[in-house]
Amino acid sequence: MLGSLARWLRILGYDTLYYVDRDDDELRAEALKTGRILVTRDSELVQRSIKNGTPALLIESAETLKQLREITDVYNLDVIPKNTRCPRCNGLLEPVEKTTLKEIVPEESYNVFDEFWRCVECEAVYWRGSHWVQILESLERLQGSNIL
Ligand SMILES: [Zn+2]
Repeated sequence: MLGSLARWLRILGYDTLYYVDRDDDELRAEALKTGRILVTRDSELVQRSIKNGTPALLIESAETLKQLREITDVYNLDVIPKNTRCPRCNGLLEPVEKTTLKEIVPEESYNVFDEFWRCVECEAVYWRGSHWVQILESLERLQGSNIL
């Protein structure tokens, strides 16, 4: 249910795991073991988690931007571009030499951008195209401040 939010958090630089196939006990155990905050739209799960000492946050909105706002109301989220993670798999990104990507990146992006990154896990290649700018602009509006 929160897959889009998870991708945004990764782009912001937050180490974010996302599961659709784990039961509540597994999610709580994982959060506790790895020092994460359990973010969910399941209010019962939040109550049980907090009772058991697992930090948890209830998300009420169905819209990604409003969900981010719910998080920033409680936690201080910063955008740390150098920490951006792979939105697909949460892997770390490493800079990759542009000339090695000529066959991989669409020509119009290759011609416009100079910086590219590759996910060390799934090898997806990224650049700061329109999607990236859109996300940063949305966040800027959200926070009412200049984050770049
Ligand atoms: Zn990846």
